[in-house]
Amino acid sequence: LTIFIPKETAQAERRVAATPETVKKLIAQGCAVRVEKGAGVESSIPDALYTDAGATIIDTAADGFSQADIVLKVQAPTDDEAAKMKKGALLACIMAPYQNANLIAALAKQGVDVFSMELVPRITRAQAMDVLSSQSNLAGYKAVLDATEHFNRAFPMMMTAAGTVPPARVFIMGVGVAGLQAIATAKRLGAIVSATDVRAATKEQVQSLGASFVMVEDDESKAAETAGGYAKEMSDAYKAKQAALIAETIAKQDIVITTALIPGRKAPTLVTAAMVKTMKPGSVIVDLAVEQGGNCELSKVGEVVDVDGVKIIGHRNVPSRLSANASALYAKNLLNLLGLVLNKDGAKDIPWDDDIIKGVALTRDGALIHPQFGGPAP
Ligand code: NAD
Repeated sequence: LTIFIPKETAQAERRVAATPETVKKLIAQGCAVRVEKGAGVESSIPDALYTDAGATIIDTAADGFSQADIVLKVQAPTDDEAAKMKKGALLACIMAPYQNANLIAALAKQGVDVFSMELVPRITRAQAMDVLSSQSNLAGYKAVLDATEHFNRAFPMMMTAAGTVPPARVFIMGVGVAGLQAIATAKRLGAIVSATDVRAATKEQVQSLGASFVMVEDDESKAAETAGGYAKEMSDAYKAKQAALIAETIAKQDIVITTALIPGRKAPTLVTAAMVKTMKPGSVIVDLAVEQGGNCELSKVGEVVDVDGVKIIGHRNVPSRLSANASALYAKNLLNLLGLVLNKDGAKDIPWDDDIIKGVALTRDGALIHPQFGGPAP
């Protein structure tokens, strides 16, 4: 069984789907691993390390795609890459299924089985395969560092002979995996940290990290979490109350980091243009949701916008800015998922009835099978 690891071609993508460590383990399980030349360079993994681990380096991605039984990728393939894959092959990547319906249909038609890694269910057994968590955690950390880079003040309080430097006030909006890591990172740097979320369950988590919780607490907020642990879309009345509290809070902040997402929808607008106008010059907003439509009305994908001295950071693909760690964790997530797919002889034997596989599998034997993405209802 041959596994292929291509070099990622998407804009701002520096990650790679396998590391020498995971390659070694796949080979020990009986697989042959082929890595495209230069695939790991942006994650500080030279080809020689893959060769040392037992992989074969190949020059042409086309050969890799057309001959592989399994392709491991970070981003969805291009149409050309996908078209080269053979019938019966398995593709595992962050497929962005809400945006790639046509590509997924084409892959189904070709007979390629597609696993979408961001659909790994949030259950205990799947934690080691959970790419949203592994990548969001790094993004939350990096968001704080990106804020420090554009903030022309210090984070911690400093009492010096020449006067006192006040601590920075940092406000985190959305307390999922990224938000929690952002709180912890800002605290470590000495800031005064507060946070908000629509899920009341996050209050205790925020407080346990030493930050204060800002939230409209009413009956609706008590029911704002789906059974899967995600946020629901809130009513207009709730949104108005929350906006007023947030507006008052934001005006006092130096740094605002937004991380709020709703699966399959545009990210909620939490910071309006009017709110930005109330912030002091020199303040910084980091919008981690910028690629999903943005939590801040004025953020722009891939840009640092300056609005009357307030910097609004909208970097693309923040996990990729820590590519070495992000690749290592992502590769481990994939390796753990393949643990379900490969039998002890290193052959592919997909347990289609396993809840994790049911969560990630979009296509099987030429058909769309995921109930949320074109497959039959369960
Ligand atoms: P996410 O990336 O989907 O969203 C980030 C945060 O934004 C969430 O906390 C969400 O509630 C919040 N949010 C959404 N709309 C908002 C609004 N209008 N205002 C303020 N905040 C808003 O979240 P995530 O990091 O993927 O985590 C989602 C859930 O999954 C959490 O409950 C988390 O604890 C859970 N989780 C479970 C596991 C597991 O058990 N294996 C692993 C990871 C995460």
